[in-house]
Amino acid sequence: MHSAIINSGKTQQYIDRENNFGAHNYESLPVVLTKGKGVNVWDVDDKKYYDFLSAYSAVNQGHCHPKIIETLIEQSQKLTLSSRAFYNDALGEYAEFITKYFGYDKVLPMNTGVEAVETAIKLCRKWAYEIKGIEKNKAKIIVCENNFHGRTTGIISFSTDPSATKNYGPFATGFEVIPFNDLNALANALTDKNVAGFLVEPIQGEAGVIVPDDGYIAKAKQYCTDANVLFIADEIQTGLCRTGKMLCCDHENVRPDILILGKALSGGTLPVSAVLADDDIMLTIKPGEHGSTYGGNPLACKVAITALQVLQEEDMAKNSEILGNIFREELQKIKSPYISVIRGKGLFNAMEIIHTAEDAAWKLCLELKENGLLAKPTHGDKIRFAPPLIIKKEELMECVGIINKSLRILD
Ligand SMILES: *Cc1c(COP(=O)(O)O)cnc(C)c1O
Repeated sequence: MHSAIINSGKTQQYIDRENNFGAHNYESLPVVLTKGKGVNVWDVDDKKYYDFLSAYSAVNQGHCHPKIIETLIEQSQKLTLSSRAFYNDALGEYAEFITKYFGYDKVLPMNTGVEAVETAIKLCRKWAYEIKGIEKNKAKIIVCENNFHGRTTGIISFSTDPSATKNYGPFATGFEVIPFNDLNALANALTDKNVAGFLVEPIQGEAGVIVPDDGYIAKAKQYCTDANVLFIADEIQTGLCRTGKMLCCDHENVRPDILILGKALSGGTLPVSAVLADDDIMLTIKPGEHGSTYGGNPLACKVAITALQVLQEEDMAKNSEILGNIFREELQKIKSPYISVIRGKGLFNAMEIIHTAEDAAWKLCLELKENGLLAKPTHGDKIRFAPPLIIKKEELMECVGIINKSLRILD
């Protein structure tokens, strides 16, 4: 645990209360938020910040987007949950909307991101046994080192992060881990006839915004197609305009066989996730074989439609692309001995710092907070910068100034 710095009495009271009664499964920056609007959030002392995490890219559309909130309120006063025991009048509309939006035959609606990844794995295995003809219980799914796909016991079974797995075993089998951004390793793994799918983040988010070489995603997809293996893209964090295109796979004109979405699918209002695929894959799951009480609830359906609409109406992909380029250019201009690497795509970026102290990135994030910008360190020396995609150039330039000024704390 990092020692707390001096907080206002009020802030410390909130933090203490949370720590006294809540499980200690997160290490949060010592700021207590109470309000959000667009690119900004406010703490309990009414101090205003730029949000450069965007709730891990769940609020791409900006905090409390008025159109999304309007839909949320409207539908919440009408019908919030029917369960799938009955039909509701929103799921069909949503299913038609999202499948046409992304160009797939079918959608399977879930809630959290990790449930959608679990769903994709089940779907891939069904397809493997019933269409591809893999022998019972032999199906294998290839994944990448340093992946992040969520926190269930199933998904952490193929995590390579010790803090995600320590003392949580025994683990599920049927996964093979290969290095990310390594086409030879993929080609090798694909020689096994029992491989059913390749599950990959087109840019590794939690690992520190690791961008693979140009052409990696396109070639990986081609290798999978040649081997009759499903290419499964986890676009929960990279999708929905974050990287400057609607999907990160769009940068290489790749259409995944199974597409996984979450996070910004509701613009940060409630957990909404989805798995998209064509009929030959999706219809292998039959009635009663998979589900979720809240999956496909009418509130989520209506909110997701609006959340997707505003991404297009406000051309957030374009803004993400243009401002992302400016952001990286401006950060490159900063003459700081502490910046080692700046990388990213669109408004999905990370800065690696040169440090001697183990908690240098944490210290920098505390200084950024003091100066009015919230970001979160990962893996000791990496800081992710991912503001809401509605940020304006002047605001972004102000934030570059804050980052520049804050770096001096490392002197
Ligand atoms: C956040 C995330 C998940 C898990 O989503 P939850 O809603 O937290 O379960 C899965 N995959 C990726 C790439 C993510 O960024």
